Amino acid sequence: MKKIVITGGAGFLGSHLCDRLIEAGRAVLCLDNLFTGRRENIAHLLDHPRFEFREHDVVRPLALPPDTAEIYNLACPASPVYYQADPIHTMQTSVQGALNLLAEAERLGAKIFQASTSEIYGDPDVHPQPESYRGSVNPIGPRACYDEGKRCAETLFFDYRRGRGVAIKVARIFNTYGPRMHPQDGRVVSNFIVQALKGQPLTIYGDGRQTRSFCYCDDLVAGFLLLMDSPDTFSGPVNLGNPGEFTVLELAQKVLEIVGGRSALEFRPLPQDDPRQRRPDISLAGRELGWRPAVDLAEGLERTVAYFDDLLRREEYS
Ligand code: NAD
Ligand code: UDP
Repeated sequence: MKKIVITGGAGFLGSHLCDRLIEAGRAVLCLDNLFTGRRENIAHLLDHPRFEFREHDVVRPLALPPDTAEIYNLACPASPVYYQADPIHTMQTSVQGALNLLAEAERLGAKIFQASTSEIYGDPDVHPQPESYRGSVNPIGPRACYDEGKRCAETLFFDYRRGRGVAIKVARIFNTYGPRMHPQDGRVVSNFIVQALKGQPLTIYGDGRQTRSFCYCDDLVAGFLLLMDSPDTFSGPVNLGNPGEFTVLELAQKVLEIVGGRSALEFRPLPQDDPRQRRPDISLAGRELGWRPAVDLAEGLERTVAYFDDLLRREEYS
């Protein structure tokens, strides 16, 4: 049976993708350096005969199995807190990681998927963002290691397609949340839920009027699979995200409605270059993939709160 390689497969999204592919009867090789990923996310798969895990940093040279048919490249810390912790390594992960994996895709004749990001658009002055928008990124700011690394990876992917005939698929992912986010991940949905469950103040950066569009993880992973299976003539880039747009204050309110309790709001300074607004135009995904998200924010938050509630009841995280 041909192998599917998932880099970053022990992370939040990667572990859900591993699950979907194993359920679909595929053989999966998961590569991860466990920087933000966790063994617990894939613990239930470790003894599965069609699943293999290797601890590996994609910055280092790699040789994938000769029977590799598809590669999903998800390796990269996604939370601003973690991607800014070692910005040079973040850039290396996106750029050297892409180079290593694209070379393997070419050598093995495998199809390769890139987890790109809405951060390609930076702090956008076009709203909502279509794929044709070229973005407004500060190349020397604290977010640049992530934004520019992902932009460079897209360039490499398209040059490998044009110059070397590699079959590529590029998804621009908008803020996605759900079970298996790390409780200390630092992103807004997990922060608010964990804070609300612990009865701590919810930390609002800036005035909370900046917007994001939040996609539930199962919807997103369904989009990944449709994109990978789309005709070779379609490479993207394609936006995948939920077009429902909410201010950070509205998100805090929704989390408090679901969790209950009496958490106050605590206002903190807005991080530099924090995008003021973000909403995907998903018409291309609809047309080319027949994809649109099915889980709305209230339902997705309910499921995510249930996950963190259970997690926090276990001693290690309380
Ligand atoms: P995550 O931090 O949970 O997952 C990233 C995984 O990559 C982790 O398991 C981490 O250990 C691994 N990793 C990091 N650097 C690595 C390296 N050098 N070598 C090998 N493994 C490495 O984050 P996530 O939300 O699951 O994001 C997965 C991918 O999707 C990332 O590439 C991210 O940029 C992209 N993305 C996610 C979102 C989102 O909202 N969740 C939005 C846009 C893009
Ligand atoms: N944010 C916040 N409180 C937090 C974490 C984040 O107000 O505890 C804000 C952050 O400044 C940003 C939005 O929520 O405006 C989304 O942040 P996140 O880190 O989840 O993702 P990104 O900025 O990469 O979209």
